[in-house]
Parts: sequence; C-alpha cells; structure tokens
Amino acid sequence: MNTIEEKVSQLHAGRLVDMHFDLPLGLFWNRARRNVIATDFLPELEAGNIGLLGVAIYVEDKYLPDQALRIALDQVAILHTEVEATRRLTFCRSFADIQRAQAQDRIGFILTMEGAEPLGDDPHLLQIFHQLGLRMLSLTHARTNAAASGGIFAAAGSPSDGLTAFGRQLIAECDRLGILLDLAHINAAGFEEICTLTNRPVIVSHTNVRRFYDVERNISDDQIKMIGARGGVVGINAILVSANKKEATLDRYIEHIEHVANLIGIDGVGIGFDFCEFLWRQMPVVEREELETKLTRPQFLPELSNHSQARNVTRKLIERGFNDKEIAKFLRGNWLRVLQRAL
Ligand SMILES: [Zn+2]
Repeated sequence: MNTIEEKVSQLHAGRLVDMHFDLPLGLFWNRARRNVIATDFLPELEAGNIGLLGVAIYVEDKYLPDQALRIALDQVAILHTEVEATRRLTFCRSFADIQRAQAQDRIGFILTMEGAEPLGDDPHLLQIFHQLGLRMLSLTHARTNAAASGGIFAAAGSPSDGLTAFGRQLIAECDRLGILLDLAHINAAGFEEICTLTNRPVIVSHTNVRRFYDVERNISDDQIKMIGARGGVVGINAILVSANKKEATLDRYIEHIEHVANLIGIDGVGIGFDFCEFLWRQMPVVEREELETKLTRPQFLPELSNHSQARNVTRKLIERGFNDKEIAKFLRGNWLRVLQRAL
C-alpha cells in the first residue's frame, strides 16, 4: 500500500500546468538584478513539480496609456534574457514545444497578456506579439480599456457595455492567429459577447466562483456553464478563495474546484493559482494600501501561497475522494487538451 506522499509524487510525475503567474511584472520590478528566476522562483517551481506556466504581461496603471507598449516589450525582453540564461526553462509557442519541454524535463513558459492595453487601439500589433510568442490574451484586467471593460471587485456595479469595435477585431485576430481567449476579469457583458463571437474553446485562466466569493471579478454558475459548453477550462485562483480571512483555507479552495466540477464535470477545471504574494511583499506600504482600496485585499492561503506548496492541493484532492484520473485532469490534462486544440 502506497503512502499518501508516494501517491502525490506519482500524480506529480507528469508535471503540473498553472495558466496564470505574474512573473513578467516581478521580473520588471527586479530588472536591476540578473538570474531572478533561477534565484527567486526556480526552487519553488521545482518543489511543486510545475511543468508549464502561463506568464502574463501586465502593465500597471501608472504607465497608461502612453507607456503601455514600451513596458510590455520590456517585460518580454527581460523574460527572454532570463529564460535564455536558465537551461531548466524554455518558451513554448506550439503544442510540439510543450511536448518537447516535457520530454527534456524543462519548465515551459507560455506568454500571455492580462489586459490589451499594450496594443493601444491597433489590432495589427497583436500579430507582433504573436511573433514574440503570445498565445493567450485576456482583453481586460479590472479596468476599462479600448477593447472592453473589466468586472469590478464588488458584487455589482461593473460597466454594462460589451466589447468595442476594437475589442471585436481582437477576437477575430485571436481566432485567426491561434491565440487562446482568456475571459478572466472581463465584465459579464463582455464575457457573454465573446462567447457569441467565437466557436473555439474559451477559458478563464484564473478566477474563483461567485458562489463562495461574490464579486463581479469572479464567475457565476451561468458563466461556468458557458465555458463548459465550449469545452473550455476554468483555472482556480488561490487568492480570492473567500472574502473572509477565516474561510480562506485550502479546504475552501478545493470546494471551488468541486463546485466547477459539479456544474461542468472535472474536464472543465484546472489550476490558475495566481500566486502574487511575492509582489505584495515588494510593494511599498502606501502603494499596497492604494491597490487594496482600488481592487481588493487578497487573502493568501497559508497552505497554498507559492508553487512549492502545490503538493498540498493534490494531497487534499486525494483525501476528499478524487480518483487518480480526475486529479491528473485537474493538474495538467485539461489545460493540455485545450492548448493542443488552440495552438
Ligand atoms: Zn488577474
């Protein structure tokens, strides 16, 4: 009889896929340093058996609108320098690249963009980012931009309009180029409109369910069903598990997974940890307070606050009665299925 730790190791042998990590922003903040990934992140990624990571370009408010493109390119440039300097890492632009990374036991990065601000209002720029490796796009963060509006961190009150003409052009461009559409953060009208504009699977890279944390930034049961109907995946976020600190626990994290699985099956749920405590720690107190007022205060889970703690999720899934096949789908299989189709 295997111990539970051996079972976790077996389930992790095929590696995990996490489709949202703010690594480029972290690197940008530390751009005076070298080998930041190897020093600050690689040990945790290794400990958690992470095999594939969606790394998101994100531009802070203070650079909008004029410097957004410049900052985004800086983030991509730093990321390339870091990946080239670290043999354990590689960029993935195709499904074949993902398979090669797996075969070579390297950690693959998929370049994603959280908020279309770097594109300004020029749909042609998307193909430049595609050439730089961009393979997933969410039109908005919590803000309104030239493409669409984000859902706010409150139970009601997000802008009610859907996409702009530019936003609709971007959806068509993503379909043409093979860029996966990420519905994380977008408001309800935009979410629904994108589902009517494309027939490809759409995903939500990192979110929680409104059933347990009722803000418009999270997704409703109807939205979860829209993702399921298209063969998409909902990545479960580890920072908005509950508004209540006492209920922000690993058990509640698993309940978010169970809730999505109950609605659309285990095939519709994956990892979107969104670990960002390292950013929070680096922020000056004043800036952190400003951001918490503007958005919300994240409730970091003590048992799940960075990639080294990924085993805690797997162990808890076993304890709660998920079978090996279901757990493997959650840890990697579902994301790989969607990526194979999209790339
Ligand atoms: Zn986000």
